Amino acid sequence: MTDLIAVPTNRREAITRLAAELRPGMTVALSTHVNADGDGCGSQAAFARLLGQIGVRAIVVNPTPWPEMFRWLLADDVEERSAEGAAVLATVDRLVVLDISDVKRLGGLASTVRGLPQEALVIDHHLPGEEPPGTILVSDTSACATGELVFDLAQVLGLTITTPIAQALYTALVTDTGGFRFGNTSPRCLMVAAALLQAGVNPEQMYARIYGSVPLGRVKLLRDALETLETDLAHGIAWVSIADGLLEAHGATSEDLDGIVEHPRSIAGVRLALLFRELPTGQVKISFRSMAGVNVHALAAQFGGGGHARASGALVGGSLIDVRERVLTAARRGLETGALADGRT
Ligand code: AMP
Repeated sequence: MTDLIAVPTNRREAITRLAAELRPGMTVALSTHVNADGDGCGSQAAFARLLGQIGVRAIVVNPTPWPEMFRWLLADDVEERSAEGAAVLATVDRLVVLDISDVKRLGGLASTVRGLPQEALVIDHHLPGEEPPGTILVSDTSACATGELVFDLAQVLGLTITTPIAQALYTALVTDTGGFRFGNTSPRCLMVAAALLQAGVNPEQMYARIYGSVPLGRVKLLRDALETLETDLAHGIAWVSIADGLLEAHGATSEDLDGIVEHPRSIAGVRLALLFRELPTGQVKISFRSMAGVNVHALAAQFGGGGHARASGALVGGSLIDVRERVLTAARRGLETGALADGRT
């Protein structure tokens, strides 16, 4: 069997180039996308601690607040100052952007990042976006999660995967693979997960922290979301809609939406599942998910979004009804013509 845990040469070279930009004594900011998920947060919490091992101070600055469900990842040794926003970026030596391939995903930080004197360093596993946040990249779409690339960075630089770092990276892997079920669950992903268990991760404890201690409002949100379920089984499409104000009504936050779209996707015969979330800004956030054979990246890209072949997102201006109609029309057309078939991006 090939040595799956060895870092592929292309990644090793990219990591060496990126690491050459980081020197002891520096202070760097770490930013991930709006509404950070388990991969964004886990990669940041792990990378911040790894940087500490090479004498670099890391400050996490995200465009939206650190999710409560992942607060434990920060413990008391990761500095998180998202509340201060772009002001922090002006005080650091360098910015590292994680889990983002398009600068737009930095939301309210994007314009500041575009104007930084030095280009951001990027660690990411998404398909290329329209406007990459930087040019010194560790980017590989074959990585199951950005956390896999942070694991590789630790290996290449000879750093120690302590138990808190292993827990953060495991969180990244387990959430981005839907609990090691999605198509990105590669043999290497499972080898890295095994190495993280060896480094002290207790999978049952991780399950309890990530999936077994959600607020009641999250389950009520799921109940109400499923109430909106609609289907077009002739095309193999199913979707749910979240009206503006529903999250607030349940004391829920964006992170509580994570996973809801898996329910429409789970229906027999469904190839394409969508979640439409109406925002108070007059925009609609869309989550696209697909089954094997359907490339939702191609559909999300038509609406200015991106992500992966089976999981993408987009932010579109307009009312919930209008945006939903436009997207469904494009989805039906794409499925009928074969434009969303794998390999036809
Ligand atoms: P989500 O539906 O928000 O869980 O996102 C699914 C995937 O698409 C994730 O990998 C996101 O990073 C990516 N994504 C979400 N929204 C956008 C967007 N507006 N532009 C580009 N990529 C996105």
